[in-house]
Amino acid sequence: MEETKSGPSEAQKARQQQRELQELKLQERISQIRNTVLVLSGKGGVGKSTVAANLAVTLCAEGFQVGLLDADMHGPSVPKILNVESEPVYADGENIVPVRTGAGLRVMSIAFLARGKDEAVIWRGPLKMNVLRQLLADVEWGNLDFLIVDLPPGTGDEPLSICQLIPNAAGGIVVTTPQELSVADVRKCITFCRRLELPVLGVIENMSGFVCPHCGKRADIFGEGGGQRMAQDMDVPFLGRVPIDPVIVRACDEGHPFVEEFPDSPSTKAFLDAVEPITQLGRE
Ligand code: ADP
Repeated sequence: MEETKSGPSEAQKARQQQRELQELKLQERISQIRNTVLVLSGKGGVGKSTVAANLAVTLCAEGFQVGLLDADMHGPSVPKILNVESEPVYADGENIVPVRTGAGLRVMSIAFLARGKDEAVIWRGPLKMNVLRQLLADVEWGNLDFLIVDLPPGTGDEPLSICQLIPNAAGGIVVTTPQELSVADVRKCITFCRRLELPVLGVIENMSGFVCPHCGKRADIFGEGGGQRMAQDMDVPFLGRVPIDPVIVRACDEGHPFVEEFPDSPSTKAFLDAVEPITQLGRE
């Protein structure tokens, strides 16, 4: 519209220049990250953010330099899980400094940019894309062994945009619960990864069985083994099962990663076994 017969306007040229600069910045940031791991799920509420946050904490405890990007635009819960909700976020010129946990994990969340946790965030299409790009390009991630990205659930435009911004990611972890509906959504997730040529590092079956703390009997509340069967069918690695555990809910609510808070619980052991192949990537 602003373009005249004599070519683009000054404003258009300035915008174009800004886009090119941001693209260069994005490439530079990404080149400093050894392994980007995207955490996906077919739908919300299956424990994707819990897995992403506890994976990042686990890798940090192994001595790796780790960043955690909470890119779930509609339910950013990482700051709550890690109890960094009210941490201030500093910007130095055009760069945003990630929040650091006591253990040195670098965290950035869309929730920090939309303070006021009770407000529903309405991001319109182009703005959404800009925010996601900014979270990668403008945040001073520094040199990282791992960047763990908590993606929005599903296989829509938002996870697609993020995957496209990071074309060389090490791969995706798909989180599901064992029941059929969730598992059917995960098939879509795997197809989505394949279309984007994103390697599937594996499937985690979360909320898989409940062991009664009183009688010790196991009940498979959401069915059993669906994630594992689906992983076999679709020829992707099955990483393991994490049971439904009240201590996980409590730890999340209180803002303590359960792997740190309950290191000896069977669910922590199951989780650590499941993510061992990811830890291995850092040792290669
Ligand atoms: P998502 O990111 O998929 O929406 P969350 O990670 O926010 O899901 O988890 C949703 C809720 O389920 C949270 O309250 C969390 O504490 C709980 N949760 C996750 N995994 C487990 C588990 N294995 N056992 C019990 N509660 C869990």
